[in-house]
Amino acid sequence: MPEPIKITFLGTGAAIPSLRRRPAAILLHYGSDYFLMDCGEGTQIQMQKARISPMKLNAILITHWHADHFAGLLPLIETLHLSRRKDPLKVYGPEASRFIDALVEMSYWGIGFRVIPEDCGEEEIEKLIETETYTIYSIKVKHSVPSVGYCFEEKDHWNIDMKKAEKFGLKGKILREIKERGQVKVEDKIIKLEQIAEKKKGRKIVYSGDTEICKRLLEFSKEADILIHDGTFVEIPEENRPHASAVEVARLAKKYKIKQLIITHISRRYMNEKEVHDAVKKVFKDTIIAKDMMKIVLK
Ligand SMILES: [Zn+2]
Repeated sequence: MPEPIKITFLGTGAAIPSLRRRPAAILLHYGSDYFLMDCGEGTQIQMQKARISPMKLNAILITHWHADHFAGLLPLIETLHLSRRKDPLKVYGPEASRFIDALVEMSYWGIGFRVIPEDCGEEEIEKLIETETYTIYSIKVKHSVPSVGYCFEEKDHWNIDMKKAEKFGLKGKILREIKERGQVKVEDKIIKLEQIAEKKKGRKIVYSGDTEICKRLLEFSKEADILIHDGTFVEIPEENRPHASAVEVARLAKKYKIKQLIITHISRRYMNEKEVHDAVKKVFKDTIIAKDMMKIVLK
């Protein structure tokens, strides 16, 4: 059975935080793996509120180096140092080496574990992490500085129908073998995996980071289970503001058959998000306006 995908919105505000919305940070939890996407100011406090230990983090994925997306990084790293983390921690992002080296340098004591920068965003789409069950990609997006979005994509998996398996006399260890090889040979007879199992499509979660409307990201997000997208403005963005309009994102989410759209990076001008909510819902009903500490679980 696939693991649930749990997403915790630690910060859903835009450049200037408010008492209701902290700067950007989203935690994705799958099985025993924890990924933090962006780490705005105060992220570690939000993690404490959400009762998620930063010691569990497998990696941090920074979309771009604007302070509202990374200013919580050094304090978080120092907390890990004081908590005696020994495992290395990879931090992904465009030009990650430049920024991580500078941050670690700023720490007066030095850091007692390896913080490993992983540059991404040179290519349009890059595969960053791959395990047996999922893959994480970066997708180059359109912002005022080098920026990426991230995609967590679960691999397709097979659910074995035990009744069917029994009919073929398959049980125990051989079930693992048929899953791995796609078929097994029993008494000179070949049994294929599809005869006893049903293929279940892996789920896909995409986070845009800050971006204007970006066709590449939307195409990559096609039929995604969840698209978490910048919606700094309700309607058309003001000049020179490289962010997306929530209404336009909603229109495109519908076109690209996104199952659930979540608008985040909400400007403090919308103290009452009803305005954003009403405008967006009219266009695409499967939209949620993110809130700090909101938790979404895909079972
Ligand atoms: Zn930005």
